[in-house]
Amino acid sequence: MDAATISSWMSEIESSVRAERDHLVQLDAAIGDGDHGTNMARGFEAVVQALAADSGSPPGRLLIVAGRTLVSTVGGASGPLWGSALRSGGRVLGDQATFDAGELVEVLAAALASVKDLGTASPGDKTMVDALEPAVHRLRARLSAGDTVSAAIEAAAIAAESGMRSTIPMQARKGRASYLGERSVGHQDPGATSTALIIRALQRAVSTES
Ligand code: ADP
Ligand code: MG
Repeated sequence: MDAATISSWMSEIESSVRAERDHLVQLDAAIGDGDHGTNMARGFEAVVQALAADSGSPPGRLLIVAGRTLVSTVGGASGPLWGSALRSGGRVLGDQATFDAGELVEVLAAALASVKDLGTASPGDKTMVDALEPAVHRLRARLSAGDTVSAAIEAAAIAAESGMRSTIPMQARKGRASYLGERSVGHQDPGATSTALIIRALQRAVSTES
């Protein structure tokens, strides 16, 4: 995997958050302020533009540029959270031109650590952590068990989707949705939903590699 993998991942995220923008807006309108779909669509549109202007950079550098772009274009909580996640992931790769499956796990683990650090959310708080953490754990476990990269990422995407659905019965303890208290129960978390799209996008980016 290399810089093209990262560019393709970011493009896959951009098209899926654009396609799911209204759904993400509806989810956020139910338990937040209704901007999550527009936040993510605007942010990743800017990321794709920034990466197009940055051809020739190594994969870690592209992740850092993507993270910075999200921080500067997204006002909501998801901008700084995903922004710092991608920057932390990028720092893991340094200036290397390619990366292997083990390094991809470390990129995602650093992204997760950064989200948890900045947002102080734990699993069960009804946030993006509920989708991201199971995805990272599943990816690591399946690679250790000997799966191919694409099989392991497919399993990680399924884990993220299942984590996303697991947020429905939860009561929010972080972010805007926490202001609703018990009224947040029964709604799927918007950030966990976009996180599942982000891991699914990674699966597509990796499986379409030649
Ligand atoms: P805002 O809540 O500022 O309007 P968004 O609507 O873009 O920002 O994003 C909301 C999502 O951000 C939530 O659904 C949740 O998944 C995630 N989120 C909010 N606060 C936190 C936090 N402290 N830790 C992790 N994720 C969080
Ligand atoms: Mg919002």
